Amino acid sequence: MNFNSRLFDRIRIGPSEAEAVEDGDAPRCDHPGCTRAGEFRAPQGRGREGKFFLFCLEHVKAYNATYNYFAGMDDDALAAYAKEAAIGHRPTWKLGVNSKAARMAQRGRVAGGGEQPDVQDAFNIFGARRAQTASQPEPRVGVVARKALEALGLDENADAAAIKAKYKELVKRFHPDANGGDRSREGTLQEILKAYQQLKSTGMV
Ligand SMILES: [Zn+2]
Repeated sequence: MNFNSRLFDRIRIGPSEAEAVEDGDAPRCDHPGCTRAGEFRAPQGRGREGKFFLFCLEHVKAYNATYNYFAGMDDDALAAYAKEAAIGHRPTWKLGVNSKAARMAQRGRVAGGGEQPDVQDAFNIFGARRAQTASQPEPRVGVVARKALEALGLDENADAAAIKAKYKELVKRFHPDANGGDRSREGTLQEILKAYQQLKSTGMV
């Protein structure tokens, strides 16, 4: 986040003008220098899901006005993120860069048949094998659902309501109608729609 934005400068007020917080135990506004009570929660952003700042009313308004989950990502990074989300954040092999590794990966994919990120194990067909080989606890949601959640910027603790809310928010943000007809982010929108469909098909929403 950017506390140095002009928006914050404009609304920044001197300590003498701020209403002092009477209750010493009450949490303060997280805006630097603000002494008012931090009564409003604001998400800290990408990579810090579930973490919140506490702000007074004025500062939460300012924060929300400048808040953007994808802030700091330029269009290329955003496109790369959407692509990564689509292939499940797996490393991709480039032929020629490390052709031996590429061949091995290719062989592994064909021979082992285990490299199928899009296989949906809704009926837990592979569950038995997983239980035999892995000692880790079974993940709460399947790999497809988890990746779809990731694509929406959510973690596996997100419930149906949270998923729906996030989906609506992202569609609104990336829809061409919301961007003056700009269609450059349609790819991202497609990823969002795909992720939501996957969550629907796995019964998460
Ligand atoms: Zn404040």
